[in-house]
Parts: sequence; structure tokens; C-alpha cells
Amino acid sequence: NSKSTALRLSDVNTYYGPSHVLQNISLEVNQGEIVCLLGANAAGKTTTMKTIFGLVRPQSGSVQFNGQPIERKLTGDIVRMGLTLVPEARRIFPRMTVLENLEMGAYTRPSGAEFKVDLEHICQIFPRLKERLKQVAGTMSGGEQQMLAMGRALMSHPSMVCMDEPSMGLSPIMVETVFETIVRIRNEGVTVFLVEQNASMALSLADRGYVLQTGKIVLSDTAANLLNNDLVRQAYLGGA
Ligand code: ATP
Repeated sequence: NSKSTALRLSDVNTYYGPSHVLQNISLEVNQGEIVCLLGANAAGKTTTMKTIFGLVRPQSGSVQFNGQPIERKLTGDIVRMGLTLVPEARRIFPRMTVLENLEMGAYTRPSGAEFKVDLEHICQIFPRLKERLKQVAGTMSGGEQQMLAMGRALMSHPSMVCMDEPSMGLSPIMVETVFETIVRIRNEGVTVFLVEQNASMALSLADRGYVLQTGKIVLSDTAANLLNNDLVRQAYLGGA
């Protein structure tokens, strides 16, 4: 049912010079779902995100968002269509304040009254940010910076967010907070595509998942089935 498909990659091939990093990647994320992409280091997870957002161009294949081709679009135009990225390692603006970072996230939005409403909403989801609007972002803890990166992404009013390893480098308690927030965002109607090395956490909240190995999708199933899959258990869940 193509009407309910938010994001669709079809036979995507992406290269860095001679290196064929994404090999015939096809996947889809339906509206309202949380879908995760699991993979080890260097499998091509970040490259998948960059390809979706026009930060690298696929040599062949298509990327569609809400039925529209986006593989030749500029990143800013993709964000205006309602698809937003929470990049790997957060990539907040460290010398700006929390408030200024959130303003940057709203750059595609009309300014003025709506900004205040959106800011209020973000502060409600992330009370920690509300206390720290004037703090220089680079001085916050890793978990706080991750919340800021998520808050900044939500300021563009996305219908879908892609998150690149939101749990990376965080303490277990912060990982839990971040994942609870992801569920909350989905419950507010935002579709989520999540790239993760933390397979057990990702599969515990996702509806479905894909497994990427050296540039190829080798498995695709419901999260419940993937949690019980031998390959996933051995490679991504510590062989349990
Ligand atoms: P990690 O979890 O370690 O971030 P990943 O699954 O996100 O890994 P990618 O960052 O997508 O992996 O990298 C996939 C492969 O492409 C790696 O072998 C990497 O060295 C290579 N690669 C990534 N970026 C470039 C680049 N700009 N030029 C050349 N090779 C690159």
C-alpha cells in the first residue's frame, strides 16, 4: 500500500570513489512505524542516512518520501517536505546556546508566534532543555546534547525523523531516556527510522527492522522475530 509508505529506498547503490558502499539497498518505512536499521561498524548505516538526505548521491536507485522522489533534492528541500535528520554524534552547534540551536532547527518555519508555541512544546518533551535554554550547548552532557539534537530536529515540524545512533556514547540511564523519548515522538504521530548498533534497545521499541551487513540488507523482519533470530542474536545481541 503505497499511500501509507513514508520512506522507500529501491535498489539504492552508493559509492565513495571505487568503493561500493551501499549495494542494492531496498527498504521501506510506513507512516506511524518505528523501523530500525541494525549493523556493525562500517556496514553503511551512516551512508544510508546521508543518501536519504542528499548528502551523498546514489549512483542508481530511488529514494521516495511520501511517494515523491527525493534522491536529487537538496537537503533543505527534503527538510521542508517534512523529513528531518538527527545526525550521528549529535552535531549540535557547540558554541551556540540551547535556544539558538533550537532556533536553527526552525529555519524552515515561519518565524514569530509559531516559534514560541513550538519551543513550548519541545520544552515540555525535554524539561532538561527548558532549564538550560541559555546554556552554551557544548558544555552540556552527552545525553543532554542528544536531547537537544532531537529537539532541534522536531522544531522543523517533521512528519518523519531519521536518527543516526542516538544511543552512541550515552550512559545506560540516558539511553533509556532517549529511547523513551523516541516512543513518545512516535506516539505524537511522527514516523521514526532509527539506525543503531544497540540492537537489543532498538528492537525493544521498533515495529520492524532491517539488518545491514557490508552494504547489503541481509534480513528484514518484525522486531519480535529479529530478537529471536539466530544471526541477530549471535552478531548483535552478544550471542545470547
Ligand atoms: P559506524 O557505525 O562505524 O559509523 P556505519 O555503518 O555508519 O559505521 P558508514 O559510515 O556508512 O558505516 O561507512 C561505510 C563504509 O564506507 C566504511 O567502510 C567507511 O570507511 C566508508 N566511508 C564512509 N565515508 C566515506 C568517505 N567519505 N569516503 C570514503 N569512504 C567512506
